Amino acid sequence: MIVESSLLPDNAVRRDVVPAGDYYLKVVKKGQTMRILDSEGNQAADTLFYNANDPAERYSAIDTIREQGNVYLSTGTKILSDQGNVMLEIVADTCGRHDTLGGACATESNTVRYAIEKKCMHACRDSWLLALSEHPELGMDKRDITHNVNFFMNVPITEEGGLTFEDGISAPGKYVEMRAEMDILVLISNCPQLNNPCNAYNPTPVEVLVWDAQ
Ligand SMILES: [Zn+2]
Repeated sequence: MIVESSLLPDNAVRRDVVPAGDYYLKVVKKGQTMRILDSEGNQAADTLFYNANDPAERYSAIDTIREQGNVYLSTGTKILSDQGNVMLEIVADTCGRHDTLGGACATESNTVRYAIEKKCMHACRDSWLLALSEHPELGMDKRDITHNVNFFMNVPITEEGGLTFEDGISAPGKYVEMRAEMDILVLISNCPQLNNPCNAYNPTPVEVLVWDAQ
């Protein structure tokens, strides 16, 4: 559902540009609101959420989909953890819907889906693993890479229940905004994928803005 935000970028307490192929790893405190901005349009932001005080608790696509009775994420979605707790709630969304079924790109899946010589291409899973290896204080590793949300990515379900990766429905300046209901460790891979239309074959930056509780 399309809902615009009343928050002003000038009032944000933090604003980061995340280049395509880079990662974002920061804590968003309970009560803060985070916006992911699709700066140039048609960009996928592959995102993992953890309880910042206990990263063993993390985002669960299954629980989120079941409890809301819908496979797409948009305004009103309560993003649930694997312990059934509300982690964040989407409070504004000018894109309209976001995928959480398609998973993230990896060198292995690029090889299977596209060609053997795609093995060396940079993928979201690499960015996540790089983030965790550059932050050993978190004590996290590849076993902590689980379900993700693909913000701005268009993965429509066919009548037969099939999944397809389609050209994006996002556009320059569209955003999704969520309020943290607990302290959240946010790990975003700004997807470098060049083999399917999730980034319109042209990966571009996203921005992450954070506001304190209003
Ligand atoms: Zn990717």
